[in-house]
Amino acid sequence: MSKTFNFVPGPTPIPDRINRRMAEPVLSHRSAEFSRLLERVSDNLRYLFQTQNDVLVLTASGTGAMEAAIVNLMSSGDRVVAIRAGKFGGRWVELCRTFGIDVIPVDVPWGEAVDPRQVETVLNASGSVTALLATHSETSTGVLHDIETLGKIAREHGCLFVVDSISGMGANELRPDDWNVDVVVAGSQKGLMLPPGLAFISMSTRAWEQTGKASIPSYYFSLKRAKDALLKGYTPYTPAVTLLSGLDEALAEVREIGLEAVYAHHARLAQATRAGIAALGLSLFARTPSNVLTSVALPSELNGNALLKIIKSECGVTIANGMDDYRGKVIRIAHLGYAVSPFDMLAAISALEYGLDKMGVMFDFGAGVAAVHRGLMQKR
Ligand SMILES: *Cc1c(COP(=O)(O)O)cnc(C)c1O
Repeated sequence: MSKTFNFVPGPTPIPDRINRRMAEPVLSHRSAEFSRLLERVSDNLRYLFQTQNDVLVLTASGTGAMEAAIVNLMSSGDRVVAIRAGKFGGRWVELCRTFGIDVIPVDVPWGEAVDPRQVETVLNASGSVTALLATHSETSTGVLHDIETLGKIAREHGCLFVVDSISGMGANELRPDDWNVDVVVAGSQKGLMLPPGLAFISMSTRAWEQTGKASIPSYYFSLKRAKDALLKGYTPYTPAVTLLSGLDEALAEVREIGLEAVYAHHARLAQATRAGIAALGLSLFARTPSNVLTSVALPSELNGNALLKIIKSECGVTIANGMDDYRGKVIRIAHLGYAVSPFDMLAAISALEYGLDKMGVMFDFGAGVAAVHRGLMQKR
């Protein structure tokens, strides 16, 4: 089998440097060496999250941090407003319902970003609300949400603002401390290019104050336990030590590159990919596209499942399918991670052209690749 390429928005490909570090012997999680690692990681996570707040590491997938946010901040019967503009916004709603929270969804058609005025209207009509729940980069649709404006609205209404940045973290700018975001959740297998298994959650002072009033019980996901342990240099239970070593390496690399350059890298790959799609005569699915992935709305006569199957089996290239109702109708090309090579995007579009051609679609063969190439080189 020749080289394969993965353009799925998580798990993302793992750089060699991280794999080598994770191949080292597993540290004892009660050693001084581990405490030093945890301190370094916590400090570098504050840099990645662009916050002065605590960022806690949980051994769980990203959804674990979403659940931790709910159980630590809420009481059953609390009212919250959740933006549901795709599958992951829908997860906030499901989580809330699981814990008996009165959740008011703000429904937005897939492919569109929420209009902040719609959120304002719902908040005005909702009485006292504990939190506004949002998604930074909605991975199911490829849409980026205006977190800064939503943060202003949440603050004006005196509610906490909780943001799922599981895919957005390290790809699209997020400034929690300037944008009034109280809680941010992220995960290891997206922009950080680690295997799945770690989740992160940052908590503002206001969010910590709210935990005192919250009455949903928690044990494994108790953030107070996590914070008390962190102050002593440990985690409350055995963490995924191997993944934490990989995280140490990933965060060191992000610091070396610098966050501004990491954002610029994602912007460059995203712009070039979008240019390639346009040159093939295809339309973007996302109205306000995130730099995490490019979602493409396929022409209705084209079977996306068959297209992706050809691309995978004949080119060794994996592109993500649409989710739920958009399976076979939308494809999603990720350009996620500080170490993704810009030249990989040429392979993605080249494989897409191969598949379109095999499916009998008429287009200007080679135009997509040329447009990506020009985009990457920033030539007109
Ligand atoms: C991947 C993802 C999730 C789910 O994370 P898991 O690690 O699968 O639990 C939630 N929200 C967004 C925006 C995601 O991209």
